[in-house]
Amino acid sequence: MAEYKTEAQKKKFYRSKAWIQLREDALERDNYECQWCKKEGGVTVDSVKQPGKRKEIVLNVDHKYPIENYPRLALVLDNLETLCVYHHNVKEGRIFKRKKPKWDDERW
Ligand SMILES: [Zn+2]
Repeated sequence: MAEYKTEAQKKKFYRSKAWIQLREDALERDNYECQWCKKEGGVTVDSVKQPGKRKEIVLNVDHKYPIENYPRLALVLDNLETLCVYHHNVKEGRIFKRKKPKWDDERW
């Protein structure tokens, strides 16, 4: 059974043909929309790259069960979910909530 514990193992996985193909399948299944935005009633789709500009929205195909801990689910379509960058960060715990207003109403 393959393991995806180290950065090198993960990189290799994310460059594999099997993953690239499955990722496409997941995007197609999810209609190229962030599934969390969809739950919130919004639509976030991959933006079209404009010449000379950076792509604004890049969708990620996320493993619901991370491959480090669930290598068996690395190539299972049901374990994949299309997320926008924002929601991907939320899921990874890099953002906990949307930014609050600057003022502090405890101190008045
Ligand atoms: Zn989203």
